[in-house]
Amino acid sequence: MKRCKVRVFMLNHTIYITYTLSFFLNEIFVIFKEIRNSALIQIPYFPPASLGGFCESSILRISLLFFTNLIFMPVIIFFIVLWYASLFCQTFFQHRYAAHGAFRMSKGWEKVFFILSYITQGSSYMSPRAYAIMHRLHHAYTDTEKDPHSPSFSKNIFTMMWRTRNIYCTIVKGTAEVEPRFTKNLPVWNKFDRWANSGPSRAIWVVLYLAFFYKYATAPWQYLLLPIIVSMGAFHGAVINWFAHKYGYKNYILKNTSENLFSIDVLMLGESYHNNHHKYPSAINFGKRWHEIDPIYPVIRLFAWMKIIQIAKPSLAVANGEHQEF
Ligand SMILES: [Zn+2]
Ligand SMILES: [Zn+2]
Repeated sequence: MKRCKVRVFMLNHTIYITYTLSFFLNEIFVIFKEIRNSALIQIPYFPPASLGGFCESSILRISLLFFTNLIFMPVIIFFIVLWYASLFCQTFFQHRYAAHGAFRMSKGWEKVFFILSYITQGSSYMSPRAYAIMHRLHHAYTDTEKDPHSPSFSKNIFTMMWRTRNIYCTIVKGTAEVEPRFTKNLPVWNKFDRWANSGPSRAIWVVLYLAFFYKYATAPWQYLLLPIIVSMGAFHGAVINWFAHKYGYKNYILKNTSENLFSIDVLMLGESYHNNHHKYPSAINFGKRWHEIDPIYPVIRLFAWMKIIQIAKPSLAVANGEHQEF
């Protein structure tokens, strides 16, 4: 009876969240459409057309035209939505939850986020279990030879990505030797992971992306975004693992090269406060200084308020061995 109630509760929340999100997205789309069609600014569809009148137009008008046109390209909208949706799942589910246990959730909600990660990451889906093990290795062995992705041990970002991919594959296949301390409290859904990580699944997603581009791309240059979309999850990981271990500023002096890549991070949803994160890996708020706004922190608070997750109490969790500071 209790289980049944929980399921109905979860279903209601899922429907509610989906409905609210689609409502807001629709509203935003309608507003933009109205702006575009308004008599005040008649905007030609392609930037080159608007740039034709550069001499008579002000820089402001040209910029407005350019960015409004850019926003109205379906491929750009698709790219932006995938960028943030895929990154949200990576930072919220695979990173903060699976790898660091910053909060808890029921097995039912775990499955919801497994599916959400699969839909948003598609061809670049990463098993939360394998991701978490690999990421815990990174925290335990940062900047050493045992680090799965260290700029100190790779010539460039691509060789680092390839090395990371190979280590990830050995963890997925179970051929990597992993100490038991890295395999505690992981979200596991083997059947689902096997399919989502498989070649056929990745191939289907690539075909779907290609079909979308074929139907909606309005200029050949837009195809340059396709490789990023296909490897989106790995791309996000590489941006942080490479650049946030090379550039930025430090709030804390640590025995590793981690830095805060941006001082205000909207692009990477708080992940770029990487120096803070190496200092406090299980914190639910990655920002520490007043300007370091972590967009995921209010979402975590909201989900906790909605009883989707429970925020782990560090001292209690450490005592239970469930909240490890990797
Ligand atoms: Zn790091
Ligand atoms: Zn981490």
